[in-house]
Amino acid sequence: MDKHGLIAGAGIAGLACGVGMARAGWTAQLFEQAPQFGEVGAGIQLGPNVTRILQRWRVLDSLQPTLCAPEHLLARSADSGAVLSRLRLGKAMQDKYDAPYVTVHRADLHAALMHKARELHVGVHCDMHVDNIHEQDNGLQIQLDIANEKRNHYAALAVVADGVWSQLRPKVLNDAPTVFTGYVAYRSLVRQADLPAHLRSQDVTVWMSSKAHVVHYPVKAGEWLNVVCLTHGQVPAANAATHKTWDAQATPEQIRGDVQAALSGACANLRDLLMACPNWGLWPLYARPPMCSAHQHAQGRLVMVGDAAHPMLPFLAQGAGMAIEDAAQLEAVLASASAAHVQEALAQFAQLRWRRNARVQARALRNGQIFQAQGLMRWGRDLGLRLAGQRLMDVSWLYSHGMSAG
Ligand SMILES: Cc1cc2nc3c(=O)[nH]c(=O)nc-3n(C[C@H](O)[C@H](O)[C@H](O)COP(=O)(O)OP(=O)(O)OC[C@H]3O[C@@H](n4cnc5c(N)ncnc54)[C@H](O)[C@@H]3O)c2cc1C
Repeated sequence: MDKHGLIAGAGIAGLACGVGMARAGWTAQLFEQAPQFGEVGAGIQLGPNVTRILQRWRVLDSLQPTLCAPEHLLARSADSGAVLSRLRLGKAMQDKYDAPYVTVHRADLHAALMHKARELHVGVHCDMHVDNIHEQDNGLQIQLDIANEKRNHYAALAVVADGVWSQLRPKVLNDAPTVFTGYVAYRSLVRQADLPAHLRSQDVTVWMSSKAHVVHYPVKAGEWLNVVCLTHGQVPAANAATHKTWDAQATPEQIRGDVQAALSGACANLRDLLMACPNWGLWPLYARPPMCSAHQHAQGRLVMVGDAAHPMLPFLAQGAGMAIEDAAQLEAVLASASAAHVQEALAQFAQLRWRRNARVQARALRNGQIFQAQGLMRWGRDLGLRLAGQRLMDVSWLYSHGMSAG
């Protein structure tokens, strides 16, 4: 059997794995159920643990025209507006971690990975749903649904990258679907030129209140501000049955009302910014508990990556980052693997990845409690940020991953 792999799902994880596999000398075919790719999602922050990989792959180069490199990460009280702490990003991060901290629009990152995948001759096919994957004696049979016509495809390995609502994962692991976390994200993109000067920003800012927190940062070469308000909420009734969409159905008035209610005590600057944001989208957040074994990452010739394997809350801004780290690790283990011994390579991948993904999932969960802390915990958080914010916000075990020792 040839060194040939199939990937189910062409989100950030699937495309990154296509790049990683091609760089490791494997051929890859990527099957995506959507008929085409659009401007899905909004902003994404990428820490140096991720940009280090994108640099090596020369994907960061092609992102340069739209990339933003914020100078600071500010932690602010949503109520008083006070700056509690300030982490230097820019040159300080670059010097410490040998890679930058950047913000991008997801569509720009997706396009850059797609460009690299195609350059490396990864086949990317839209409108093709992967129905099922069966292990056979010496390979995998993959069942595809192409415009209601069933076809089979054969490969030495398959990458399951079908996202947070993965339909393939329960078939492989026999576990339950992802659950709604009780958190929702309201997202808006606003043109900086449309904002009054005092509301424009080229930094990453986290505003913390007891019922919600707001994160904003620049995207698209700094011309747009990505604003996300994270709070507790419900899945709209219209989405309860078929929740498999990021943009849930709610009227603009409903969303605006919810955002204002969650931040009713916010300072004038934050309130003005939220009022100035047009077209809010509502994203109910689904996740799983942190991974608990290597078994959840790989089974025989099958490997699960990205949100399909370790969906997490966005409170550490690392979901796409972990998908890209998965892909880089896949590249490393496949580089020396033959098609006959791919199971061993994937078992090694799983051993090397699951604890880190579990740790990031757990930390993201904890950040939610910290960002929206109440009472004594809130008091302690603010004091800690004032006294040692730089150290608390610079998560070096996270950002230094993959740095060479020398
Ligand atoms: C509010 C919010 C903010 C975030 N901020 C950040 C951030 O700052 N930094 C960060 O790193 N991450 C962030 N994330 C997380 C990040 O967006 C996700 O972790 C990442 O996009 C997941 O990529 P994926 O490829 O695993 O899944 P997806 O992007 O969901 O891709 C899965 C793909 O598989 C396709 N598919 C599904 N089933 C099939 C099938 N059977 N056959 C074929 N195709 C199929 C789908 O159509 C889809 O295209 C954020 C998420 C949210 C919600």
